[in-house]
Amino acid sequence: MIIDLDRLPEDGLNISQDYEFFSSELVEENTVFLEPVHADINVRLLGEEIFITGRFTTCLSFVCSRCLSPFELKVDSRFDLVYLPEELDMVKDQLDDEDMGQLFFYSQKIDLKDVVLEQLNLTFPVRPLCAKDCQGICPVCGKIIKEGDCSCAAHELDPRLGKFKDFLRDKR
Ligand SMILES: [Zn+2]
Ligand SMILES: [Zn+2]
Repeated sequence: MIIDLDRLPEDGLNISQDYEFFSSELVEENTVFLEPVHADINVRLLGEEIFITGRFTTCLSFVCSRCLSPFELKVDSRFDLVYLPEELDMVKDQLDDEDMGQLFFYSQKIDLKDVVLEQLNLTFPVRPLCAKDCQGICPVCGKIIKEGDCSCAAHELDPRLGKFKDFLRDKR
């Protein structure tokens, strides 16, 4: 939904809407939407700045980065954003470092779909895990360790190797 800021009511606008995205629009490619993204958004103008606050929920299927099993991830996230008019974008080079993440709106319009998509992408874990303590896959037989122990004694590693394994796991 594109908001025409010239026609924004003085007391702001409340929008409650479902958004459909493609997995290809996400930073995490091995992802499937299990339900549309539902968002409740408030847009209001204060001076020259546009304030957009909102909350969105959805449910996705991710692939665990350790054991490669699919798992469900529920998203319930809020955001609180300030957009400045494009004129100020021209002088962006002169802004301080802390303003680098500043958002701008162009041609008096804001596409809420873009806003929601960007915020959604920010909620994703860098390394999706089915469980915090997911043991991953047995390095010997390739079985998923949480589904019962395999017959190889691979988990009883040499203690020195164990330390190394912990080190590798922390690195992820
Ligand atoms: Zn896992
Ligand atoms: Zn095994």
